[in-house]
Amino acid sequence: MPITQTREIAAASRLENVRYAIRDLACIADEVIKQGHKVLPLNVGDPNVFGFETPAHLVEAVYKAMRENKNGYAPSQGIKEALDAIRGEAARKGISNVQDVFVTTGVSETVDLCLTALLNPGEDLLTPCPDYPMYSAVLAKLGIPLNAYYLSEEDAWQPDLADLKKKISPRTRGIVLINPNNPTGSVCTRKMLEEVAELARRHNLVVFADEIYDKLILDDDEHIAFAAVAPDVPTVTFGGLSKNYLAPGWRIGWGIVSGDAAAVKPYCEGIHRLLRARLCANHPEQYAIKPALEGPQDHLPIVCQKLRSRRDLTVKTCNSIPRMSCVSPRGAFYAYPRIDIPEGDEVFVKELILQKHVMVVHGSGFGQKPSTKHFRIVFLPDEKTLAKAYAAIAELMKERYS
Ligand code: PLP
Repeated sequence: MPITQTREIAAASRLENVRYAIRDLACIADEVIKQGHKVLPLNVGDPNVFGFETPAHLVEAVYKAMRENKNGYAPSQGIKEALDAIRGEAARKGISNVQDVFVTTGVSETVDLCLTALLNPGEDLLTPCPDYPMYSAVLAKLGIPLNAYYLSEEDAWQPDLADLKKKISPRTRGIVLINPNNPTGSVCTRKMLEEVAELARRHNLVVFADEIYDKLILDDDEHIAFAAVAPDVPTVTFGGLSKNYLAPGWRIGWGIVSGDAAAVKPYCEGIHRLLRARLCANHPEQYAIKPALEGPQDHLPIVCQKLRSRRDLTVKTCNSIPRMSCVSPRGAFYAYPRIDIPEGDEVFVKELILQKHVMVVHGSGFGQKPSTKHFRIVFLPDEKTLAKAYAAIAELMKERYS
């Protein structure tokens, strides 16, 4: 029979809410590149794009593993030497009540696995607003509605506890705490961690402590692991090689489950089912975990020094541009300036790519309080490149809004 009509293959309707603004903007940038312009990508938090290099001893460890033909599948949970090293790292972070550790294909997979293993239809999870959009994307995929609690710009982007409390319901199973935070760069105080722990205890919630940036602390703060403050609270601490060890392309992350052994046992079994169902994380790259966590850490003070200086330039410049203000980030490599403009921040960001060839991400891609507008900058490039980008941003602000 002749086929007369093209029948479209519809994508699953639950994907309608799957968005990842950080990369979704690339289509607009591609258009600008096609016209022969260079676009400065201040949208993706990839240190290697801006001259930061993976420490040589880690590269050697992976290379050696590959040469030794450790190229087959790994155990689903991860290789033993990596698991031991992650337990050692947990101990150094003061996390004492460790019940399980596992290696994943980036923290992205830890997030996917841990949320999938916890949440049933009809339940929800408290995620920060603004948040790292991986969380809302995974929740959308699972068909779980967003239950976002605000971070308070007036309080250096610390979680708004009153809002957090208000949003806990009998359906709520957990809280995501990103510390240091993406996109704001805030670092939680001990008091804040204790207050969140108290809420988790009272309402029997699992805490997902995303601490992937825990070694990129830019001021005198000490990074305090949530699980160290609350050894009794069921917690999964997320870490990985992407940021602290400058190897995002290796896709290596991990989860550390802590809390009361009997309480977390069934949840851990759920996680292991999913770990087995996806075979394993990248194998040769796992051989970099032990040298990363136990070997020389010389790169860290150098990276933090560079970031501190780039952060200072970012904050100073953003606060000098009319209609713009910026809370100083204390960790990671993101700033989240606020803009007071009559149109949406997405319009601003699109115009910035089209007219000035600088790519940042609109605040609406991370979430923000109604009637506030922001954008996220990645301040990884050197000062000269950043100064050029900020001059372009200042120009656009002046041309469009003065
Ligand atoms: N969690 C946060 C807060 C992040 O910012 C990122 C990446 O930017 C991830 C998780 C994902 O990390 P990975 O590269 O390990 O998948």
